Amino acid sequence: MKKLISPKSIVTVDSKENIFNGYSVEVEDGIIKKIAPTSEFDLLKFDGEIIRCSGYTLIPGFVQTHLHLCQTLFRGLADDLELLDWLQKKIFPFENEHTADSLKLSTQLGLNELISSGTTAIVDMGTLRYQEVIFEELISTGIRGYSGNCMIDINELYPKFCISTADNLSMSRDYAKSFHNSSNGKIKYAFSPRFVLSCSERLLKETKEMMIDFDGSMLHTHSSENKKELEIVKQQHGLRNIEYFDSINLLNDKSILAHCVHVDESEINILKKKNVRVAHCPSSNLKLGSGIANIPLFIKEGISVSIGADGAPCNNSLSIFKEMHIAALIQKPSHGPTAMDAKTVFKLATIEGAKALYLENEIGSIEEGKKADFVLLDLEDAEQSLDENSIYSKIVYSADKNCVREVFIDGKRIVENGKCIFYDEEELLSVGKEKLVELLKRI
Ligand SMILES: [Zn+2]
Repeated sequence: MKKLISPKSIVTVDSKENIFNGYSVEVEDGIIKKIAPTSEFDLLKFDGEIIRCSGYTLIPGFVQTHLHLCQTLFRGLADDLELLDWLQKKIFPFENEHTADSLKLSTQLGLNELISSGTTAIVDMGTLRYQEVIFEELISTGIRGYSGNCMIDINELYPKFCISTADNLSMSRDYAKSFHNSSNGKIKYAFSPRFVLSCSERLLKETKEMMIDFDGSMLHTHSSENKKELEIVKQQHGLRNIEYFDSINLLNDKSILAHCVHVDESEINILKKKNVRVAHCPSSNLKLGSGIANIPLFIKEGISVSIGADGAPCNNSLSIFKEMHIAALIQKPSHGPTAMDAKTVFKLATIEGAKALYLENEIGSIEEGKKADFVLLDLEDAEQSLDENSIYSKIVYSADKNCVREVFIDGKRIVENGKCIFYDEEELLSVGKEKLVELLKRI
């Protein structure tokens, strides 16, 4: 099926950072076939769907590189706590009580929110049990990305939420065998040891070895998020978090580390040397009082940085618009107002996310030959700047999820008039409430 989309503007994020006005995008078989001035297309003879959206701005689908779909059900139930209390008192007990049914609802609520706010590729941390539920839901929506069974073989914070090293490894291998490269190659496996305090050295080392059998898989974990966490890592291993990971040879260019808030100079050198991918989660870092990652320095050092909303109970929104806004603002008091300008932040949420996941030849920008994953935004709201040239500013500083009107993955429309076509939001919320009540009773 062919489509011709004629928006007001196209923010390409291509290598020349072209912004086209009065251009159209032709899509065929899920691929962007041609981008040219609308006058070059013969609209009368076009044998496909013509989408006239002259008020809208077409941008690449957003990429979020750190999420917990399993936590969406717990939004609002774990506020105003620091990381270790947040995990011990709330999140580990909640995740431990998931059934396949409650996990499905949580995943659906998360995907509905992500997709309807313009995110078309994700990295999800999974949870300890019923991981197949998450994969099945990802596949049914057609979203692109990585997920994997969250691995925990030590848990001093909440011992019930833990399984043996051997079971962690065998489950991850089985899930990787079943789901890596599924959904026409759109779903890939992310081996997901939760964080250093919940993983034995054997688990981490054998996970790294197992990745060799799954070409294109990634390693996804948390690192250096909170000062108390770091003190315990130092007591247990005599090293800082990233130094420890490096000492057991865990890190390389297939590693995604969420947070990296508290890192010293030698750890920054490790991130750089090993070409590690940093997933920046600014609102989560602020709400849990963790701190502010030195993103301007990481970018200056050439370290891969992309953005993720983290879990719904720690921010409390999965909208990339909120993350971009906060990512830009939090650096300015320390680094000056020119740090993290709107264009830089927009690129972190699109092409840099794609690069972090080795998907830059497929997604992350609007270019001929790439997959047709894109978003149509209505930026004509009264709150928006009237200056036609400040499009990145409009998107990063003024827009929000309500500006998302349509979303396409592989050229298929999955959001229409701001609503994700896969889900009935009211029904999700109503069934979600029931599942949450049942879950809380089990604790
Ligand atoms: Zn996280």
